[in-house]
Amino acid sequence: MASTATCIFCKIIKGEIPCFKLFESDKTLAFLDIQPLSRGHALVIPKFHGAKLGDIPDDHLGEILPVVKKLVNATGAEDYNVLQNNGRIAHQVVDHVHFHMIPKPNEKEGLGVGWPQQ
Ligand code: C5P
Repeated sequence: MASTATCIFCKIIKGEIPCFKLFESDKTLAFLDIQPLSRGHALVIPKFHGAKLGDIPDDHLGEILPVVKKLVNATGAEDYNVLQNNGRIAHQVVDHVHFHMIPKPNEKEGLGVGWPQQ
């Protein structure tokens, strides 16, 4: 399991690895997923390093869902998934808690919704 020093998301938080930042506060960071499952696929992470949800103090989790909601509203997506994986059997790859916000394709436009930069 990655420590704070080797954790890829901790490196993103520290600015050692670039990301397309969508939101940042003292406790939370949101950025676009580098391998998006749809246009606008974003990750929202606590700045506190912990692999699984149960490792994160409540005060570092409190802002996460409001930020997810902000991002959902910013995409204009009517349909979307919010996912959070814990452990290998549950398909977690990066051992730093993260919430996926995955907008689903818009039936009218067919291409999905998302930020215009993508
Ligand atoms: O929930 P899980 O651990 O499977 O997802 C990890 C996510 O982190 C993947 O969607 C992957 O594309 C993303 N990722 C990223 N930037 C990195 C490394 C992984 O957005 N530098």
